[in-house]
Amino acid sequence: MFGVARSSEAPLRADRVTAVKSVSFGYIASHELSSLFNSFREMCKDAISIALQGKPRNRFNLIELAYERLREYGLHTHYILSACEVAFSVYRNKKRKSNPRIRRSFLKLDNQAYQLNHLLLRIPTSPRNFIFLTLQGSDYHLSFIDDANLKRGSVTITDESVSIAFSKEVELSKPLGYVGMDVNERNATVSATDGWYQRFDELGEVVELKERYREIRADIARNTRGDRRTARKLLAKYGRREKDRTTSGLHRVTSKIVNYAREQRLGIKMEKLKGIRKLYGRGNGQSRSFRGRMNTWVFGETQRQIDYKARWEGIPSYFVNPRGTSSYCLCGSRIVPLADRKVYCPKCDKTWDRDDLASKRIMACAVPQDRPFRGSDEGERDDDGSNPPSR
Ligand SMILES: [Zn+2]
Repeated sequence: MFGVARSSEAPLRADRVTAVKSVSFGYIASHELSSLFNSFREMCKDAISIALQGKPRNRFNLIELAYERLREYGLHTHYILSACEVAFSVYRNKKRKSNPRIRRSFLKLDNQAYQLNHLLLRIPTSPRNFIFLTLQGSDYHLSFIDDANLKRGSVTITDESVSIAFSKEVELSKPLGYVGMDVNERNATVSATDGWYQRFDELGEVVELKERYREIRADIARNTRGDRRTARKLLAKYGRREKDRTTSGLHRVTSKIVNYAREQRLGIKMEKLKGIRKLYGRGNGQSRSFRGRMNTWVFGETQRQIDYKARWEGIPSYFVNPRGTSSYCLCGSRIVPLADRKVYCPKCDKTWDRDDLASKRIMACAVPQDRPFRGSDEGERDDDGSNPPSR
């Protein structure tokens, strides 16, 4: 029986967490940057091929292997460390292609490497040489820069924006109730213990929008055959638009949910990563896997945004496991599926909207005993600079 004694005396964890938010700034481009982008990409490429040959166990191991080669570029040591970090995460990525490439122009530097003075960003190039970038900031941006309580983390520079990761220690509030959120391929549906209920159809629209942009990209490829420069320009333009329109749609939804939870002092419960079952939509066979991927993306991105935004506000969020969300009523008996995403519970003699019921089942789930925020990570960018910034 020793196990029982131990578990009942398990120490309570402090409800303090680190919250990270990456904030994206526009900036005035400098021509020196593009050659820096090129060198950094070459360094990453070299480091990846060294990793593929040398099979390093960790990032530091790769730095040892690649240091001499990367030093030949003549850039500041920070770039060597950063290129090895990028290369190692590409190398370690189990889904990588056999010959991974870094296509995007970007630089990533840790907080030791740069200086930020108001909106003036100074980054090193070669030892004792620097580039200065002027960031464009609204009041929203300045509120992060001027907040002395925030720590500054890594900076990621792409040809469009500079994104800086800010972090702070947050005390999690004790919730007065909960919001349950069900995400599926058509919508996000929330139900709260105080009676709030809302359905956000923007998610389905985002998937459709992404599908439309995919067709636009195919058209561009067809119509610019042989003219790679025009193709690249058009693709960049539409890529930017796509990203703006899709992520801002999701941000509106997730901000609304988190704001409500903050005002009413509610915790947030989401479903632990679902299987593939819900991730494939209708549609013809051709677009099926694309739809599947986009649904997965929207699903994961919605949860990621909720999680880091909640954490930033000190709202506990949890990933729960409501078994059989789609097959059982709140009372525990089996439900009968009807047309139009409706279900019927014979015991309660009640017809439910399927998504409404799912969100209420998630809302009613027991909170896991371990610390919240186990599921996903910060609002920081991925190492290849591909994740959208927090805002
Ligand atoms: Zn029932």
